[in-house]
Amino acid sequence: MRRAAHFAFMEKTGTIYLVGAGPGDPDLLTLRAARLLEAAELVVHDGLVSREILAMAPATAEFISVAKQRARHTLPQDDINALLIREAKKGRDVIRLKGGDPLVFGRGGEEAEDARAAGVPVVIVPGISAANGAAAAAQIALTHRDASSIVSFVAGQCKGLSDQDWSGLAGKGRTLVIYMGVKTAPQIAEKLMADGLAPDVPVAVIENAARPEMRVVRGLLAGLPQLVTAHKIKSPALIVIGDVTARDDRSIANTAAKAQETQAVT
Ligand code: SAH
Repeated sequence: MRRAAHFAFMEKTGTIYLVGAGPGDPDLLTLRAARLLEAAELVVHDGLVSREILAMAPATAEFISVAKQRARHTLPQDDINALLIREAKKGRDVIRLKGGDPLVFGRGGEEAEDARAAGVPVVIVPGISAANGAAAAAQIALTHRDASSIVSFVAGQCKGLSDQDWSGLAGKGRTLVIYMGVKTAPQIAEKLMADGLAPDVPVAVIENAARPEMRVVRGLLAGLPQLVTAHKIKSPALIVIGDVTARDDRSIANTAAKAQETQAVT
């Protein structure tokens, strides 16, 4: 009897699916993500997931937003982890939908660790990270045989930005992709130049990559803060630093006057 009861309990535990929703365009979901979403009973999502993607779940599905809203802060990560575990233990599968890829600045690692510790099965479905989505949409090669053989993804909004060692991440033959760097663009530019990066290294800022309202602005590292303010760049946006960003218009790298040139892609 006790064995049976034990198995009955085991059977009731749902699975937590940490699903990458990509940069916004529903066409950029994986088939696996689309199938899980179409069969979803419960969707726990953050703010970066587009409405069109959420609309792929059945109308009967329950949606829980853990997004940052003006009036309240994001649900603390521990509370999100607890929510996922609690719902799975009620016996239903939980689709935890995240912008981009769950394991790139997505806290998917933390959610998976807590779920595993609680004995809840976890499945991770990769998504197209903003860097990949932005690179394709803006036609910027993250690596290029003639320009870059190293690409780094960094978080521009980490606590203690100035304490982080970014030396070697940008410069000749390298591409640096900065997530969450809109607000800290001035400190980022300053930090990189203090580390010895040339002020005329080309940069691109890609706002709303892979969405209809995408904008791409290009300039030089020294002018990055002005580029962000002049064009009123808002999150979500990526900053890409390196020669690969100027391959379409090599004159940009040499002409400071072109630094403020905008290329709006629609
Ligand atoms: N897990 C996500 C990243 C989450 S961190 C991923 O893999 O893409 C949030 C940051 O991602 C944003 O501040 C922004 O820098 C970047 N980002 C997400 N979606 C984006 C988009 N559509 N266009 C540009 N940047 C985006």
